[in-house]
Amino acid sequence: MRITPLDAWIAGKVGHQGELLTRSAIQAWQLNRLRETLALVREKSAFYREHLSAAPTELGRLDDLAQCGFTTPEDIAREGQRMLCVSQGEIERVVTLDSSGTTGAAKRLYFTREDQELTIDFFRVGMSTLVEPGDRVLILLPCERPGSVGDLLAKGLERQRACPLKHGPVRDLAETLQLLAQEKVDALVGVPVQVLALARQRNDQARRALRLQSALLSTDYLPPAIAVALEEAWGCRVFDHYGMTEMGLGGGVQCEARRGYHLREADLYVEVVDPATGREVPEGEYGEVVFTTLTRRGMPLIRYRTGDLSRFIPERCACGTALRSLEPVRQRLSGRAALGASLTLSQADLDDALFPFAEVLDVRAELSHQGDRDHLSVLVRTVPGAGNALRPRLKAALWSVPALAEAQSRGVLDLALQVDASGYAPPLSAAKRAIKDTRGPTGMSKSEQCLSRAGSCR
Ligand SMILES: [Zn+2]
Repeated sequence: MRITPLDAWIAGKVGHQGELLTRSAIQAWQLNRLRETLALVREKSAFYREHLSAAPTELGRLDDLAQCGFTTPEDIAREGQRMLCVSQGEIERVVTLDSSGTTGAAKRLYFTREDQELTIDFFRVGMSTLVEPGDRVLILLPCERPGSVGDLLAKGLERQRACPLKHGPVRDLAETLQLLAQEKVDALVGVPVQVLALARQRNDQARRALRLQSALLSTDYLPPAIAVALEEAWGCRVFDHYGMTEMGLGGGVQCEARRGYHLREADLYVEVVDPATGREVPEGEYGEVVFTTLTRRGMPLIRYRTGDLSRFIPERCACGTALRSLEPVRQRLSGRAALGASLTLSQADLDDALFPFAEVLDVRAELSHQGDRDHLSVLVRTVPGAGNALRPRLKAALWSVPALAEAQSRGVLDLALQVDASGYAPPLSAAKRAIKDTRGPTGMSKSEQCLSRAGSCR
């Protein structure tokens, strides 16, 4: 098994070019970059000067960072401008995101040209896990705007001497499949459900014409059943990528062992903390992913709470790298809906139950409160013509989800299943799929209880 290409790249960055990367070399680099970043934000950012006023002025060791307060999506929405460490004139790209927080205000992230260069460089190296020079790579992510994820990915691929084909999200299955064959595409990068719809298109002729070697999935939870479906349909290798705009789009990528994400540890310092207490959890335990940027200059983020739930895999990766492995993120703090005492349900629970069915293309769900009971309405989109025989099998699979089975036995939940067999529907937004919880204050308070409960992240 080939070691992750991130290993040699990071060894070079931390001043150990051509040598075996070690944890102590990474940590020494991280400590120095953290000191620089804290000095920078204290000097240049009005927000951080106040925010870090009680934090130690000098970090003696990495653990001392825990004395700095967290920053949150709400801080970015409210104070984003005051987080800047450069003048507006030096900002090359501004990304506006809908806030998932309580303020409802949009978040704006600011990047300098140098910040974007760091992302392009990560994409160049990360993609070399699955792409060789000369390979043709179809990009099924937004790529129209300069500085968008697809645009920076294309730049990274060009620097790797691969051939990027900018396409954008999948709108028309037949058209994209034709393109995959015509352009002799070797690898693609896309969103799990969109790529799954391509793979589950019943067109054996088109399938035989493909020579796809690998696929990288990003931006949403990758259910194991989707990875298996792609591998079976195309005989390709499937890799999962972790990233968010706040991280500078790229965060980490799986190696050939295809277990955890290896992280961009020269550019990001990642912690996993107990969401209730904010304290770092013991290695291997689940908690909220928190990161600090080490090399960004426009708008550094200090201990940013991502809302993602994961853990560090304690065992060393089979590829042999000294880099840490973060387990693929299955759910978010805000995405867990409470179904009564100690029961929570997430989109990933529904995905894991339903995507193993070969006809299923997408799963959407809404929770409402009717009378004295919660009501879960699940819409399953399938390939055209999926028979009525599928319906009872899907329903049985849903009732086998532990939280739903328990809620049913307690008599606190109704379940309605709708099957739409009209085939693929193009995405209406780039948002992650999540259960829509419309239960109002009752549901909210239950969710809040769920959020404050520590140590039950799975
Ligand atoms: Zn590895």
